[in-house]
Amino acid sequence: MKYITEFRDKSIVRSLVNEIKKVSKKEIVLMEVCGGHTMAIHNFGIPSLLPENIKLVSGPGCPVCVSSRKFVDTAVIYSSYKDVIITTFGDLIRVPGSKTSLEKEKANGADVRIVYSPLTAIEIAKQNPDKKVIFLGIGFETTSPTSAVALINACKEKVNNFSILSSHKIMPPAMAALIDEGVKINGYICPGHVSVITGSSIYQPIAEKYNLGCVITGFEPVDILQGILMLVKQFEEGKAKVENQYKRVVKPEGNLIAQHSMNEVFELRDDWWRGLGVIPMSGFKIREKYCMHDAEITLAVDVPEPQEPKGCICGEILKGLKNPKQCKLFGTACTPSDPIGACMVSSEGACQAFYKYDRFK
Ligand code: SF4
Repeated sequence: MKYITEFRDKSIVRSLVNEIKKVSKKEIVLMEVCGGHTMAIHNFGIPSLLPENIKLVSGPGCPVCVSSRKFVDTAVIYSSYKDVIITTFGDLIRVPGSKTSLEKEKANGADVRIVYSPLTAIEIAKQNPDKKVIFLGIGFETTSPTSAVALINACKEKVNNFSILSSHKIMPPAMAALIDEGVKINGYICPGHVSVITGSSIYQPIAEKYNLGCVITGFEPVDILQGILMLVKQFEEGKAKVENQYKRVVKPEGNLIAQHSMNEVFELRDDWWRGLGVIPMSGFKIREKYCMHDAEITLAVDVPEPQEPKGCICGEILKGLKNPKQCKLFGTACTPSDPIGACMVSSEGACQAFYKYDRFK
């Protein structure tokens, strides 16, 4: 199949691995900050192909994993209202809140529906004019544009019973916060999907300020290995720049239409990230102009400060300080079918990736 087979070609994989082994001399730690990369890296067994001096760690790249329990608790409260329909991407429904999850509340009769796009949520709102339909907006620059377009459409079409609870976030402040906190890495495998929207320049300040290589990388084995090779070469040569391995998809300027929609609807605010706490100007708030579609305003609720589950080390995993196997609950009390923390729930979470592909290694 075009565009898949050539990026999984064994002979190309072998030659990239040989080249990496030839070039790489020093100890190097590379972090991926995209749940898609986390899954792909473990699915394709990339760590087992690399020499021992190259360590890959996962960062805060899984949207469900970095979102707060308070967000889930708020959605759970909304779901208890008889005139509310909650619409959400599938991963989020199973994330444990402080006392329960949306999945459990759905089983108890709450109207919680999985959608693949907020545009479907608008259709649900049109079909149910006597209900308030809330879409749980989660994800980085990748999913924010679709939420933005949904709000713009809801305004144009006067679908006044549609609103979004926004937990949308942007990636560069978290990448900077990790280094500011003292996390030791030598380069970022930059997220391909985010970069399709933003373009490549958003990583420039990180490369310059922290002297770190940033390589935008695709999701197939050849992509990932080539991205690693580019980072290793930079590191060995003492360089730190932004490079784009994923040129077939990511353009320097990104997707201008998507950027325009995001800027039209959202403005930046301080936001909380699991493991990192509050990061200045790292989250998207809905602009006042669209406040009648902002669930935080139309359905304001007081939610007690939540506690993280006892024994769960998701926060340290999301900072690349520990790997899931170092959690005492991994694979015993915490499994994908009975998860304790968000990193095991999400199909992009590091704990689930380790459980699926690495737990017997
Ligand atoms: S294995 Fe479960 S409890 Fe442990 S860090 Fe991962 S999600 Fe949390």
